[in-house]
Amino acid sequence: MENKLLLVHTEPDGTLAGPALEALGAALALPGDLTVGLVGAQTAPAANQIAACGAVRFLAVTGDTFAQARYATDAAAAEALCRASGAALVLAPATSRWSRALPGVAFRIGGRIDTHATSVAMVNDVPAVTRWFYRQRMEATLTRSGGPWMVLLDPGCTPRWSGPAGTAHVEEMAVEAQTRTSVTGIREPKSDEQTIRPDAKLLFVAGAGWTKKQSDGAVHVADAERLILGFLRAAQASLGGSKSLVDLSGEGQAVLPFMNHLNQIGQTGSTPRHPKGLSTCCHGEEPHVVGWRFIHQRRAINLDPNCGWARGKADVLYVADAFAVMHRVNELLEAGNPERDLRA
Ligand SMILES: Cc1cc2nc3c(=O)[nH]c(=O)nc-3n(C[C@H](O)[C@H](O)[C@H](O)COP(=O)(O)OP(=O)(O)OC[C@H]3O[C@@H](n4cnc5c(N)ncnc54)[C@H](O)[C@@H]3O)c2cc1C
Repeated sequence: MENKLLLVHTEPDGTLAGPALEALGAALALPGDLTVGLVGAQTAPAANQIAACGAVRFLAVTGDTFAQARYATDAAAAEALCRASGAALVLAPATSRWSRALPGVAFRIGGRIDTHATSVAMVNDVPAVTRWFYRQRMEATLTRSGGPWMVLLDPGCTPRWSGPAGTAHVEEMAVEAQTRTSVTGIREPKSDEQTIRPDAKLLFVAGAGWTKKQSDGAVHVADAERLILGFLRAAQASLGGSKSLVDLSGEGQAVLPFMNHLNQIGQTGSTPRHPKGLSTCCHGEEPHVVGWRFIHQRRAINLDPNCGWARGKADVLYVADAFAVMHRVNELLEAGNPERDLRA
C-alpha cells in the first residue's frame, strides 16, 4: 500500500488527546509507511509522546498562529502537510477542529473525504472504511479510488495507541497562513457544571418523566435535580436527555436548568459511546433509542411495564419509581459500598 499520513492537532500543553491516539492506533494497523503530521502552538511534546510508534517521518507546523482552532490556519497547515507527505491515505481524528477544516483541504488537494468513519481496515488489499447511515440504522463499507483519500475517524471506536515516550526527529515546515480573524476570548452559555463526559463508563439518561406529576399529584423538579446531580457527581457519569425533556424549557414548563440540547440523545441528538447506559423516566421511543446504538449494556427504570424499553430495547428494565430507585442508589454510593459502585 502507498504511504499514509496521520494528521493530528495538539492540545494547549502540546500533547495529543485520546482521539488522536485512537486514530494513530488505526493508522498503524494498516500496511505502508506512516508519516505523522502535527499542528499546534507546540508540537514537540506530542512528537515525543508517540516517538516509539513506528512512524517513518514526523512533520510539524508549529507556532502561536496554529494554537487556535480556525479554518484558515488549520486548513493551510493541513494542506501543507498533505502535500509534503504525498500520502494517498490521510487519517485524522474527527475532532470539531478537523471536521471543520479538512473537507476544504480535500477539495484543495483534489482528493476525497469521508467523515464519521468508525473503522478503517484492508479489504481485498485496498483500504476500506465503515460508517453508519440514516442515523446509525445501516452500516456500510466504502472504498474509494483516485486522489488522496481523507478519512475522519469518530472518537471512541478504536483502542488508543500506547507506548513509551522518546525523542522524535521532527521536520518543521514553514506555513504562511493568512487570516483576518483574531480570537479575543470565548463566551460560553452559562451552565452550572459540566455534565457531558464522553469518556465516562456510564451514560445516565433523564427523560421528561422527571418533570411530570407523580403519584401524589405534584411535580418534584427540585428532588429530580438533587437526585440526578447527586448521582452524576458520585458516579462521574455523563448526562443525556430525551428530546421531550430538553425541549421543555422552550415551552416554559418546569425544567432541569443544567440540561440543554447538547444533552439530547437520539435521531436529532447525539449518539455517544459508553460501555453502559441507564435510562430513567424516559419512555424509550425509537427516535430516542436510535441514539443508543453504541451503548453496550442498556438498563432502564420506568413505571410503565409496557414502555418502549420493554420491547427488546433494554437488557434490563426495572419497573419502578425512578425517584425511589435513584434515592437508594445515591445512598449506597455515598456509603461507598464498593459492590454497588456504578463507576465499576
Ligand atoms: C422526527 C423526530 C425526531 C425525534 N428525535 C428525538 C431525539 O433525537 N431524541 C429523543 O429523545 N426524542 C426524539 N423524538 C421524540 C421521541 O419520539 C419521544 O417523543 C421522546 O423521546 C419522549 O421523551 P420521554 O420518553 O422523555 O417523555 P415521555 O414520552 O413523556 O415519557 C416519560 C416517561 O417517564 C415515565 N415516568 C414518569 N414518572 C416516572 C417515575 N417516577 N419513575 C419512572 N418512570 C417514570 C413514564 O412512564 C413515561 O414512560 C423525535 C421525534 C420525532 C418525530
